[in-house]
Amino acid sequence: MTKDIATPIRTKQIMDKYGLKVKKSLGQNFLIDPNILRNIVDHAGLTKDSAAIEVGPGIGALTEQLARQAGKVLAFEIDQRLLPVLEDTLSPYDNIDIVHSDILKADVQKTIDEQLVGYEDIMVVANLPYYITTPIIIRLLTENLPIRGLVVMLQKEVAERITAKPGTKAYGSLSIAIQYYTHAELAMIVPPTVFMPQPNVDSAVIRMIKRTEPIAQVTDEKFFFTVTRASFVQRRKTIFNNLQAGLPEGKAKKEAIIEALEGTGIEPSRRGETLTIQEFAQLANALYPSFS
Ligand code: SAM
Repeated sequence: MTKDIATPIRTKQIMDKYGLKVKKSLGQNFLIDPNILRNIVDHAGLTKDSAAIEVGPGIGALTEQLARQAGKVLAFEIDQRLLPVLEDTLSPYDNIDIVHSDILKADVQKTIDEQLVGYEDIMVVANLPYYITTPIIIRLLTENLPIRGLVVMLQKEVAERITAKPGTKAYGSLSIAIQYYTHAELAMIVPPTVFMPQPNVDSAVIRMIKRTEPIAQVTDEKFFFTVTRASFVQRRKTIFNNLQAGLPEGKAKKEAIIEALEGTGIEPSRRGETLTIQEFAQLANALYPSFS
């Protein structure tokens, strides 16, 4: 087996060889601890029959670990400067395709159709660029891609919000959006010391496995998310006040909100953070006829 890319010495050598300076604006914090990387890959449960999609391969630290476990790796990298580096560092592997593209703009479905033919088990595994963690996760989950789920490194604070349960401070519209689509759990907390350069915050790895059965019956997803977002605009306000302020104008809005809360048995004085996803679904379904 070839030597790991993800050691402090080898990472520095590679960066020196290419005169590479990290671009903070692209969230470039490279992992330099092979144990952490193997741990991330283990959480994805890959076999040679699986494919992995990576966002931001950097200099290839995670990519090579994925290539060892999975049948195929498809990696999207925005920074053109890294392409020749990756060609060099990943030359021992013949099961990696690098796509030079912004993951938020790429046609991921088309790339999967073209490059991952025959793979039925596809996982997204990535050490995400922290400036766009949420848009990336939301995009990959809402595009109905044929993926089993995601295992990603991101800021600890965002990881806590994504996996939060009702009644906690971290619970909000992001928790609901992600948990609506997936079973989300915290896999591990990671200190800044395993990155080069070190980020200013603690990190965490989370695993999100897409639900095969919906967690709640929702009449209109877009409206459901409008209701959940409105319910948390001012966390200290009651659900009634937040909906009153945050929902678009509709037929007899105030009456519609009172009726929907009564009909679903949700106390108007409760705060959004106490409602379960199922309660939000009932509430949104009850409100929907007055706002559609
Ligand atoms: N995977 C490498 C590792 O773990 O060492 C690098 C991870 S680094 C946190 C994030 C990577 O994402 C960088 O390589 C960066 O250039 C890339 N990146 C940033 N924005 C991106 C985007 N919109 N689309 C694709 N890649 C992006």
